[in-house]
Amino acid sequence: MNNADARNLIVEPNGAIGILGGGQLGRMLAMAAARLGLRAHIYCPEDRAPAYDVAAAKTIAGYRDEKALADFARAVDVVTYEFENVPAETVEFLTSLGAVVRPGAKALETAQDRLVEKDFARAIGAQTADYHAVDDLASLKAGLEKVGRPAILKTRRLGYDGKGQTRITSQDADLSAAYEKAIEFAWAEVGAAPSILEAFVPFEREISIIGARGADGAVALYDPAENIHANGILKTSSVPASVRGETADKARAVARRLLDELDYVGVIGVEFFVAANGEVIVNEYAPRVHNSGHWTLEACAVSQFEQHIRAVAGWPLGAAARHSNAVMENLIGEEAHGWRARAAEVGAALHLYGKREARPGRKMGHVTRLKP
Ligand code: AMP
Repeated sequence: MNNADARNLIVEPNGAIGILGGGQLGRMLAMAAARLGLRAHIYCPEDRAPAYDVAAAKTIAGYRDEKALADFARAVDVVTYEFENVPAETVEFLTSLGAVVRPGAKALETAQDRLVEKDFARAIGAQTADYHAVDDLASLKAGLEKVGRPAILKTRRLGYDGKGQTRITSQDADLSAAYEKAIEFAWAEVGAAPSILEAFVPFEREISIIGARGADGAVALYDPAENIHANGILKTSSVPASVRGETADKARAVARRLLDELDYVGVIGVEFFVAANGEVIVNEYAPRVHNSGHWTLEACAVSQFEQHIRAVAGWPLGAAARHSNAVMENLIGEEAHGWRARAAEVGAALHLYGKREARPGRKMGHVTRLKP
């Protein structure tokens, strides 16, 4: 399919949305697709995955299985993804077969590498923490000189939910044996993999913007959510965020610029630190629906999941307006065993993802409470 045809692609009702990845995000996307009379076809390497239970079709195969990918491309009308670590080559291969993949390869590649991601954010005029590329102990030391301490060392690729990162604190600051040890420890912690050293941002709070861009270039931005993390994992997202109007506007403007500059089609999640002076500093962005946007299921007429399906199907976007205040709480690991109490709670919207094993740190479900 040529570029103009790809841009104009509209998936009619009863058409098939191919989704790479079968986690809870794929599950909620599949349910949103079904509501619009569209069929979700999940492509995922796992034998068991949350999205299979609610999808119209599934392919269980690896991301480099060219035969399975070719069959998948033929079976669906458009392809999207629900997690950002789908190999870029998989998207390139599908595109080479004529499949339309939304959002495109550029968004995926940019978000897959923390260094490229930060360079891109800076290039569009957004603020980020000071950072330095780290490829060995020498560049880690040079980075510490540049960004100062405390600092956070993160792998460039494949990190999520606080995994693949380690802090270097100011107590390790003197140029002593202890300092050398701390540096070596940090480097071992990230597996000596290409990394990025970031200055620690003394933020006042964390917010995120869920934004959507349609195939026609229309943009819809949800209100910022205020996010609380525990052990690097999102615990709660609340709307409204307790930030000034101009802070919210600044965050919205960055999200809009990202969407436009990436020529994006679909939903993006952009995480920010808010400094004491109200400035917004981009932490990272995810080229997909985002955990901090789950509240949109109950607090908006059109959720982030429906918005993403609308965008990738070439439909008009819905309004991102919010009719209620809300607090979304993740149920992590064994917290999901408390499902009965949550199910009995008046006004609590319970979501369980169908995962059998409540491993520590695993997102098992969430509950959203609408607030007056
Ligand atoms: P990330 O995996 O990059 O989203 O990091 C997970 C969490 O760690 C963030 O939501 C912050 O709470 C914290 N964090 C990450 N990077 C920084 C930073 N440069 N300064 C302060 N806190 C950070």
